[in-house]
Amino acid sequence: MDSSGAITDWSAQAERMFGWSRMEAIGRQMSYTIIPPRYREAHDKGLKKFLTTGEGPVLNKRIEITALSRDGREFPVELAISPAKVGTKWTFSAFMRDLTEQKKAQEALRLGELRYRELFEDIPIGLYRSTPEGQFIDVNPAMVAMLGYWNRETLLATPATSLYVNPADRRRWSAQKQGDVRLVDLDVQLRRADGKVIWVKDTTHVKRSPDGAALLYEGVLEDITDRVEAEHALQANERRLIQILEAAPLGIFVSDETGTPAFANAAAQRMLGSGVVPGRGADELAETYKVYVAGTEDLYPNERMPLVRALAGEITAVDDMEIREGGRVISLTVQGAPILDKDGTLMGAVAAFFDTTEKRSLEAQLRQSSKMEAVGQLAGGVAHDFNNLLTVIMSYSAMLLDQLDPLDPIHEDVHEIAAAADRAAGLTRQLLAFSRQQVMQPRVMNVNDVIVDLEKMLRRVIGEDIELLTLLDPDLGEINADSGQLEQVLMNLVVNARDAMPAGGRLSIGTSNSELSPETATGPLHPPAGDYVMLAVSDTGTGMTHEVQRRLFDPFFTTKDQGRGTGLGLSTVYGIVKQSGGEIYVYSEIGEGSTFKVYFPRIISSAEKRPDEVKPPELCHGTETVLLVEDDANLRLLIARVLGACGYTVLAASGGVEALAIAENPAILIDAVITDVVMPGMNGRELVEKLVDSRPGMGSLLMSGYTDDDVLRRGVLHGETAFLQKPFTPDQLARKVRAVLDRVTIDSAA
Ligand code: ADP
Repeated sequence: MDSSGAITDWSAQAERMFGWSRMEAIGRQMSYTIIPPRYREAHDKGLKKFLTTGEGPVLNKRIEITALSRDGREFPVELAISPAKVGTKWTFSAFMRDLTEQKKAQEALRLGELRYRELFEDIPIGLYRSTPEGQFIDVNPAMVAMLGYWNRETLLATPATSLYVNPADRRRWSAQKQGDVRLVDLDVQLRRADGKVIWVKDTTHVKRSPDGAALLYEGVLEDITDRVEAEHALQANERRLIQILEAAPLGIFVSDETGTPAFANAAAQRMLGSGVVPGRGADELAETYKVYVAGTEDLYPNERMPLVRALAGEITAVDDMEIREGGRVISLTVQGAPILDKDGTLMGAVAAFFDTTEKRSLEAQLRQSSKMEAVGQLAGGVAHDFNNLLTVIMSYSAMLLDQLDPLDPIHEDVHEIAAAADRAAGLTRQLLAFSRQQVMQPRVMNVNDVIVDLEKMLRRVIGEDIELLTLLDPDLGEINADSGQLEQVLMNLVVNARDAMPAGGRLSIGTSNSELSPETATGPLHPPAGDYVMLAVSDTGTGMTHEVQRRLFDPFFTTKDQGRGTGLGLSTVYGIVKQSGGEIYVYSEIGEGSTFKVYFPRIISSAEKRPDEVKPPELCHGTETVLLVEDDANLRLLIARVLGACGYTVLAASGGVEALAIAENPAILIDAVITDVVMPGMNGRELVEKLVDSRPGMGSLLMSGYTDDDVLRRGVLHGETAFLQKPFTPDQLARKVRAVLDRVTIDSAA
């Protein structure tokens, strides 16, 4: 540049930068070549001053100006001016560098940072940067707001670690410095400036130097208080729901979609036993306890299980499930239903268990008694006629035997007839016993006495391979029972026990007092609360399946070979026990043996005791007049014959009406009436009542094999009515008639 401001030299770079060639540029005014018109005036002013004084504010510095290219484009240029004096004139050299590219890059950077900053400032998530020691370097407004600070500065002045509520989180912050953790993601509690505690999701990025030292923590905080609180509320709801389920009196069992137990409430665990542990596999579960089809030995078919069907989407209910665990049998009614989510996808299954053990036991008892009643009615009807026939057979054979010389060859034959009639009588007695229409002749007695009396015979019955053990309570209370019946009970139980031990074993007969309070008398295997005398017969035999146990007391139920068992033994026992006001229970396990427990109501007050029966008189003859009423002609004839042989005058009638007609005649003296009970028209008891009305002081004897007349049964039970059990022998008849007459004699004398 010369002193007039014209360009004197122009480099190749200048050519490229400004678009003027060297030839064109040299000689041109500088300001008209590279300075945009709006700056020219100022430029020329400065230039002029420099050319005259050699001074200027921009000399020997790098400054940035906007330059103009030949094509009119403006662009940034770095300019350095070095002045020089040629003679007395000032000139300068200008060195210029195009800054366009550099500026572009800088602008891009600036914009990027600006955008990041905007994001940092505007994002609704808390962001921070801090030293590993916990000194905040930067926090964004969202974080300031989240933590309740009123400006950024106060938060920046707060140590990061002091925000954590839990000391463990504070320790974690420091621990992050060590090791090589780079990302930490935790739900933590922070305390806001106002003291309120909030839940945040804290994701911290630990920046490390290449040697692993922590340099910087960069974190993201998301306020999740609402979510956590909702979760907590849900958990509280869940807890309450579980409490309700636990308290429910029905068993609730929940499995996941594979059938694996997920939940079992207390009642379910009680019913299903220890096997139900949430998370346990279904196979393991099935192994722990076995589910049977009620009353059978069959395992419950898997495909019928309500839970299994629930997993197939069905809602079902079954009431024939039985769980057996360690001798315990639980009957269950079970309902199953699938658990579906809102889209209908199977999530699992729920089963509800109702313990129906007690109900089933009651049902079984009801079935049993109605069965017994039906068979009993039938048996009673047959036994009535049968007893008359047997009385005739027994009496005539007894009378024949009396007349025959024991050495007579016929004697033995007649004896056989008598023995067969005896056996037949025994069978009829059994039939009647479970019909519960047998006339009981109970007395106050001690069960121990019956056992002791019978022991010798029992030993013979059971044979030598079986050990007999008796454990009799010496302080045993008394009961009111028919000793003949009690013998029958004992005999039947002992014979069954023997049959259950074909290879020998131990048979125990025990007695004890059993006082059952309402608390101890729980469960189906006890009689109701009260005082009892308990008779137990145990064996170490084969035991019984549940199916057998269920049908045990059924008349004609037997598992024994034809000829060995009648199936009447236990139904007889059952009938007798029930008639005596007692209860019977069986406990049995296959391969272990069985125990039968019989409970008889105990007589506590001695006032209930009745004096022992009058000993039957030895002398059976007499001259009194008796009125005999019997509808069976053969029997009537027989009795008249026996009593006539004893010396009595016998007035015979075939029924009530006829008897009353005879008694109407006041001229006829009648000392006693002997009458059958079951007769067409008027029954024996009614007849006696009528007769005694008109002839007070007259004796009476009722005869029967059985009766459905409760009034009569009660009368006999309380010793108010003289009674002769059919079938009887002539001897038994004569003794009984004598006893009746003698009592009458004594009574009328008094
Ligand atoms: P029976 O003895 O004539 O068969 P019961 O009524 O006395 O008739 O008994 C019925 C069935 O009960 C028997 O056939 C037997 O299967 C079973 N039972 C009874 N007592 C026992 C016992 N102590 N051990 C095993 N099974 C028994």
